[in-house]
Amino acid sequence: MSSTDTQHAEFSRLRIDCPHCGGHMKVRTSKSDMSLLRELYLHCTNEFDCGFRAKAHLEFVHNLAPSRCPNPEVKLLTSPWVLNQMRLDLPAANDDPYEEESTHE
Ligand SMILES: [Zn+2]
Repeated sequence: MSSTDTQHAEFSRLRIDCPHCGGHMKVRTSKSDMSLLRELYLHCTNEFDCGFRAKAHLEFVHNLAPSRCPNPEVKLLTSPWVLNQMRLDLPAANDDPYEEESTHE
């Protein structure tokens, strides 16, 4: 089995530390349906000294950029930060005194 395909590469960038020993945890399986919740099965790579395994949830909480092929069943609120950015992009809001502060991210 290759771990170089795109899906696994996405997961390998997800850095999760073991709550017991601080070691790196690997994502073993993830159930993927169209809901906003993913089930992740994690195991500590510090297998002999720790051996911790856990089931975790990954939840989508905010839109940061809308999908170009949106699923009508996906109901996600747009992040307040993004809404603020959109307001700042309006010409009328150009003199908003908070513009500088909000372009940090
Ligand atoms: Zn561990």
